[in-house]
Order: sequence, then structure tokens, then C-alpha cells
Amino acid sequence: MKLAFAEIPQKKILYSLGETGWFPAAEIAFRPPVQAEIEIGKKTSTTVFLKGRLQFTALLQCDRCAAPVERLLQEEFEYTITLEEYNNPELSELECSEEDCNTLYLTEPVIDFGAILREQAFLAVPKRTLCSEDCRGLCPICGAVLKSENCGCSTAGSNSPFAVLERLRKA
Ligand SMILES: [Zn+2]
Ligand SMILES: [Zn+2]
Repeated sequence: MKLAFAEIPQKKILYSLGETGWFPAAEIAFRPPVQAEIEIGKKTSTTVFLKGRLQFTALLQCDRCAAPVERLLQEEFEYTITLEEYNNPELSELECSEEDCNTLYLTEPVIDFGAILREQAFLAVPKRTLCSEDCRGLCPICGAVLKSENCGCSTAGSNSPFAVLERLRKA
């Protein structure tokens, strides 16, 4: 969804985006619905303030044991969007001061909600996913999930290549 600068009202307006064609479904496995809200209002004729919220359920995998993990992810974001040139001294007064508030410099007077939301979706996905903080991962010998079963492999010296060979011989 794209919005022309000229159509942005002076007063803040809230968009609830039902259409989710912008979602990076090929890169992020998710379970619908995706909820997205964007509030937008003009600051000056060339600068716009945008605030939004994105929420979706991501279908992830534990980094240690590969168990499926569902996470409800939420991302809130704020942007100052401007047609001014980068480093315009007048602009710095308009920019928001908070750390998590970004400034976007547009080359044409159109705001692409989809592009902004897509970026936020990637930012929302955690770098690290564990099914539980104490997940012990997989047994290095037999590959069993150590959390739910006791595979019975000897942990003493289990890292030695001979232990692996021993298992192979028995199998
Ligand atoms: Zn795990
Ligand atoms: Zn084992």
C-alpha cells in the first residue's frame, strides 16, 4: 500500500491494514492474522511523522534442538519521513530524538507502507530462538532430544570419535 505525500492530512490519521501482501512470507513462516497499524500525520509540507505497530505469530525453530517454536512477535516503530535532503540543518529540529526513531529520506513523494512494514517484520524476528532457556539440545551421539528423553548414551567421553564408532558398530 502506497500513500502519496499530497494525500496525507495535517491531522493524524490511523490506518489499520487488512491487506498483508507486503508480508515477507517466503522468508518468515507465520500464522495469520498479521496485524498492522500505522498512524501518520504531516509535520510540515515536506515532513511526515509515522508511528506504527505490527503483530504476528512467527513459526520458528529452536536453535538447539530444532523443535518448532511459536512466538507472538510485536514491533512498534516511529519514523520521521521527509522529502528534504539529507543533512538539511532545518530538518534536525524536526527529527525525533528517541533512539528507536528513524528518519527516512524519500526521493519521490510517496510513502510505501508495505516496504516499512516488511522491514519491521524482519526486525521483529529474534536472532536467537530457544524452545526453553534450559534446552539442552540434541545428544551428540544419537541425536535424541535431551530435554524429553534420556537416551542413555554415556556422557563420559562421549565426544571422543571412538564413542561414535562404538555406536555405529552396535547399530
Ligand atoms: Zn530446544
Ligand atoms: Zn544419545
